[in-house]
Amino acid sequence: MQQIIDRFISYITIDTQSNPDSNNTPSTEKQWTLAHLLVAELKQIGMQDVTIDDNAYIMATLPSNIDKQVPTIGFISHFDTSPDFTATNVKPQLIKNYDGGDIVLNKTENIILSPNYFEDLLQYKGNTLITTDGTTLLGADDKAGITEIVTAMEYLINHPEIKHGTIRVGFTPDEEIGRGAHKFDVAAFGADWAYTMDGSQIGELEYENFNAASAKVTIQGKSVHPGYAKGKMINAISIANEFMSLLPADEVPQKTTAREGFFHVHHINGTIEHAELELIIRDHDMEKFNARKQLLQEITQKLNTQHGDYIKIEVLDQYFNMREKIEPVMHIVDIAKEAMESLDIVPIIKPIRGGTDGSQLSFMNLPCPNIFAGGHNFHGKYEYVPVESMQKAVDVIVKICELTAQRN
Ligand SMILES: [Zn+2]
Repeated sequence: MQQIIDRFISYITIDTQSNPDSNNTPSTEKQWTLAHLLVAELKQIGMQDVTIDDNAYIMATLPSNIDKQVPTIGFISHFDTSPDFTATNVKPQLIKNYDGGDIVLNKTENIILSPNYFEDLLQYKGNTLITTDGTTLLGADDKAGITEIVTAMEYLINHPEIKHGTIRVGFTPDEEIGRGAHKFDVAAFGADWAYTMDGSQIGELEYENFNAASAKVTIQGKSVHPGYAKGKMINAISIANEFMSLLPADEVPQKTTAREGFFHVHHINGTIEHAELELIIRDHDMEKFNARKQLLQEITQKLNTQHGDYIKIEVLDQYFNMREKIEPVMHIVDIAKEAMESLDIVPIIKPIRGGTDGSQLSFMNLPCPNIFAGGHNFHGKYEYVPVESMQKAVDVIVKICELTAQRN
């Protein structure tokens, strides 16, 4: 356990926040610092073929230790942290034998991590929790995943009696800005399938995520002196407002759950002359997803017919539900499930209301379900991770390697 704690803290105290406004890969120079450290560490624990490319994608191999041919499997995590909250100067706190009560993250600013609000905490009574000091995020997303993969590889290296096939490891930059998979060289990785270690609570196992698109609506108006505007002024703000009013009012993030999709307007900007709306479209079901995109086109047409051609819409697909890529190879989910059950972990299988790098990788022909990394409350100051959950994730990785060799 101490080894997991030390390793995890050595990663989270290096700031690797990514930046969506940058076109570089990695999006921030500072991600290189941890990337170089990870390369050195992978070599040091005895991994083979440790590589890092010009975009900071890291790969490494644990060679097979059996004679027979078994599938090559991979484990993937990302080393950047969310742009939503600062990761500068992370000062972790260790709460040993958590008693189920309030945790004071920051006395001066009165920041409390409380089970009254975050009831998930209660399942970790008696565990050792790692929290923030209330001024930064923690970075368990996804440095917990990296910690677990490195620790599991080290364990397998030190325990050659556990038989396994070739294991590949991949660490990526820029997952938090949706680009973790973009420059991932699936051919070079050369695995039959892989798992991202990027889920939250212990037991999570996910192979279904949203279909996702973004849309930008641009409205050109016409400004005329308000006193003389009758029949002449085109108010872009009013048209933007009308556009929003034609979206289904109950199909928004704050009113949907489970497999319900939504439209989410997250940015609006307007003057009389010019207005812009930005929204995202999410749905697990491909038909409903397409219908949502169709509705946006219909609203645009309707308003254009009404007002003249003042509205332009641009819809871009972002990622798709990996389910269709995983279902033909369900044994890869079954192995993970069996690994958990053999370790007394109850698998929690549910659709993700978001995407993962694994969804993009699955469409790049690397089927890639997602497994818990153990952390909670990602992307903010209340983020925490129980060390016991990280240990269990290490055990799951080791067990998956073992089962894959046995089953094939
Ligand atoms: Zn993540």
